[in-house]
Amino acid sequence: MDNPVGFIGLGAIGEPMAEHVAKVHGAVVWNRTVAKAETFANRTGATAVQTAREVVERTKDVITCLPTSAQVLEVVQSVGDAWTDQHLLVDATSGDPAGSREVAAYLHRYGAGFVDAPVSGGTDGAKAGQLTVMLGGDEGWAARAMKVIDPYAGKMQHVGPVGAAHALKAVNNALLAVNIQAVGEGLAALVKLGVKADVALDVINASSGRSNVTENLFPKRVVTRAWPRTFRLALLDKDVDVAMKVLKETGVPSGAIRTAKEAFTAARQALGEEADHVEFVKEIEKAAGVEIR
Ligand code: NDP
Repeated sequence: MDNPVGFIGLGAIGEPMAEHVAKVHGAVVWNRTVAKAETFANRTGATAVQTAREVVERTKDVITCLPTSAQVLEVVQSVGDAWTDQHLLVDATSGDPAGSREVAAYLHRYGAGFVDAPVSGGTDGAKAGQLTVMLGGDEGWAARAMKVIDPYAGKMQHVGPVGAAHALKAVNNALLAVNIQAVGEGLAALVKLGVKADVALDVINASSGRSNVTENLFPKRVVTRAWPRTFRLALLDKDVDVAMKVLKETGVPSGAIRTAKEAFTAARQALGEEADHVEFVKEIEKAAGVEIR
């Protein structure tokens, strides 16, 4: 393919996203653990390279999908003067608005464009090529970014200037965290009262308290005791932290989100960096002395 897209960061969600990109545009990929990129290339026909700089030298449109904006800045700086005014960086990381502005300012020196384009929909949405993508940045760059990411997107929405999409993604994930905590506490109490968890969820899912957490996460991961690892608790804790910063910067008081932040940070310390975000519920179960089933 004539204009392959660069992809940096083949993690839990990055890899299935990159696979869709490789199918449609062709891809040049780099991953910190290089063996992962090589395995990916063998499977998909993409080209694996040894450095992020090589990705930028061989492509014009580059996607990053890394844990936080700090790693994005580190990688972008490692590329140095290989960036040109022909380049666009589309950052699919759930980053932070201040970090995105710093990355954008660095790229601007070389004339390269930047769009923050975090995703929602989880690893299942990524595998299906049906992620929701919010985009922050100049309209022209955002229009170009949409063509690049279309292979893995179900919905794309330009939401404002650089950093706006990262702010929106952080608020979305803070809502997810608040919801996991509230549903976990509520269901633990109901189970202790003798109501079966699947019965309670069935009723809630036909009532006003329903959400993705009650419709999908609890029935498929908690009640079944399956606890799959698809999205690290550490990453959700990071997202709630970004949301707290967004609230602080805008002078908005935080009650619910602050409570979730404290609880998720404590769970991260107890369960470690590899635990899944839904495993947070195990901490509620431990404190309540009950299993939600
Ligand atoms: P993972 O932890 O699975 O993967 C992280 C990726 O970043 C790996 O490729 C890792 O390389 C690479 N990496 C880590 N540190 C560095 C570094 N210092 N320099 C270069 N590369 C580095 O994360 P996910 O794929 O789950 O998440 C990526 C982003 O997407 C996060 O911001 C997350 O919040 C967001 N997200 C994740 C979702 C999910 O369901 N998983 C859903 C929506 C958003 P290596 O292989 O060497 O470790």
